[in-house]
Amino acid sequence: MVWKCSVCGFMKGGTDEPPKRCECGAPADKFSALSDEELKRIQVIDQTNDVHMEIINLAMKITEVAKKGIEINLDPSCVALFKQVHAEAWAIKRRSKAELVSHVKNGKWY
Ligand SMILES: [Zn+2]
Repeated sequence: MVWKCSVCGFMKGGTDEPPKRCECGAPADKFSALSDEELKRIQVIDQTNDVHMEIINLAMKITEVAKKGIEINLDPSCVALFKQVHAEAWAIKRRSKAELVSHVKNGKWY
């Protein structure tokens, strides 16, 4: 079973009984067992947040690579292209970050 503290949202799994005390200090009776449906939803949210984090990391790599191309400065058309790539990757990163922030605000964070 997975137990969730109703006070702070802390979760602990692998036991038939709820923890005696939560990390926030709440007693055992503040814990309730998650249903299979809730567990599945948490998994989906967790996986989605991982996808956002991977996208953010990839976009950051792209901005670094584009910066390198700008610094090399072979010719104006390459520099213009790399500047565009940099701006697009930055926009991708910001969109995923904004979505993650909304997940945290809406409790879609585990
Ligand atoms: Zn707690």
